[in-house]
Amino acid sequence: MGFFDPVAGFGVTFKTMFRKTFTIDYPNGERRTAPRFHGRHQLNRWPDGLEKCVGCELCAWACPADAIYVEGAQNTDEERFSPGERYGRVYQINYLRCILCGLCIEACPTRALTMTNEFELADDSRDSLIYEKDRLLAPLLPGMTAPPHDRELGEDEQAYFLGLPETGAPDPRAPESPLADDRAGDISGANAKKINQGYKHQRKLRKQAAESGGQ
Ligand code: SF4
Ligand code: SF4
Repeated sequence: MGFFDPVAGFGVTFKTMFRKTFTIDYPNGERRTAPRFHGRHQLNRWPDGLEKCVGCELCAWACPADAIYVEGAQNTDEERFSPGERYGRVYQINYLRCILCGLCIEACPTRALTMTNEFELADDSRDSLIYEKDRLLAPLLPGMTAPPHDRELGEDEQAYFLGLPETGAPDPRAPESPLADDRAGDISGANAKKINQGYKHQRKLRKQAAESGGQ
C-alpha cells in the first residue's frame, strides 16, 4: 500500500459530500410522488354525489392478492346510491394484502375505482389496515349531495354520463371539466349499425373490392 492510498480514499468521500443529494428528509421534507403513483384507492362519485361503484365485483376478481371484498345490493326508488341497478353496499380493501399493482382499477368498468397519490398507509393494527367504504369514498365536492337520492343531472343517461344537465349546456359547477366544452364522448349521433358491422361485413367488402378490381 502506498503512502497516499488512505488519503485517496478520503478524497472520494470529500468529493461525494459536495454532490447533489437524491435522498429526501422524510417525513420533514417534501413528500413528492410521480403523478401516476399507485397509492391508496378512491371510490369516485358522479357530479350529483351518487357513487360510481355498481357493486359488480370485477375489481375483486381481478385482484391477484385477494385484497378486495365487495357485496353488491339493489338500488330502489326510495334509496338510490348509484345511478345503475346496483351499488356496492360493502366495499373493503385489505392493505395488509394489497400490492398496489393497479389491476383492480383497470378492471373497473365505471372508473369508480382509481388510485390516489397517498402513500402513508402504515399503521399499528391489522384492523385499521382494512379500509371500509367510509375511508375509500371520495369526499363530497361543492354541489354534491350525499346519497341516497335520485339522480340530479340530465333527463337521459347520455346527458348524465356526459355531465350535462337537461338544458344541454355544460355543467356550470365544473367549468374546468374537459366535458364542459368537449362532446368527444357523445355517441348520440352515431350510427351503431355502421360502427359494429363486424368481421363478416368487412370480409364481404373486401370480396366486393377484389371482384370489382379484377373486372
Ligand atoms: S392494487 Fe392490486 S393488489 Fe391492490 S387491491 Fe388492486 S388488484 Fe389487488
Ligand atoms: S369498484 Fe368498479 S369493478 Fe369494483 S365493484 Fe365497483 S364498479 Fe365493480
